[in-house]
Parts: sequence; C-alpha cells; structure tokens
Amino acid sequence: MIKIILLIIFALSVAMIAKSKGYNMFFWFFFGFLFPPIPIIIILLLPRKGSTYFSMKYPGFNKETESTSGDDPLVQCIACGKMIPINASVCKYCGKKYDIIDTDNK
Ligand SMILES: [Zn+2]
Repeated sequence: MIKIILLIIFALSVAMIAKSKGYNMFFWFFFGFLFPPIPIIIILLLPRKGSTYFSMKYPGFNKETESTSGDDPLVQCIACGKMIPINASVCKYCGKKYDIIDTDNK
C-alpha cells in the first residue's frame, strides 16, 4: 500500500515538472506511474517545450539566429564591423556605402 502511495507521489512530481516545462501533465503522470524511475530522468533532461518544434529539437537554437536565417546572408561591414545584409547598398550602422560587395577601397 505504501508503495502505491509513493508511486502516486512520484508520478505527481513527474507530472508537475512536465507541466512546468509545458508538457502534457496526464501523460507524464501515467508515464511516471507505470515506469518509475525512468520518466523523472527523461523529464529533467527534456528542454522546456517551446512554441515551435524546432526550438524543442534544438534547444540551443535561440531566436536571435532564427530571425536572420530567413533573410539574406549577412556580411561584416568593413568600416564598423557590424553584420549587414550582403545586398545592402549602405551600412545602416555607420553609413558606409557599398556599390559592389568587395573589399576594394578606391
Ligand atoms: Zn558599417
């Protein structure tokens, strides 16, 4: 009997961690109840569930790099060193003009 109570407490704590990470509480409750102690290890290792599948699959993938991935490739401004789009005619940070993209300083 004590064992079942401990199991429920264990499953509940798994469910609470799952809920705090944005996962389905009931699924993790039963998972924790049926297969102790595996689920608590899995749920502790799982990243916080993001809004997209991509951020879940790649937890290190932050929004900063994600926002630039769909745009033109970036190049470093030769005048100020900031990252600007490769087809930009003028650097938006320092105003350096680019007729063509090369490092010719005529
Ligand atoms: Zn610049």
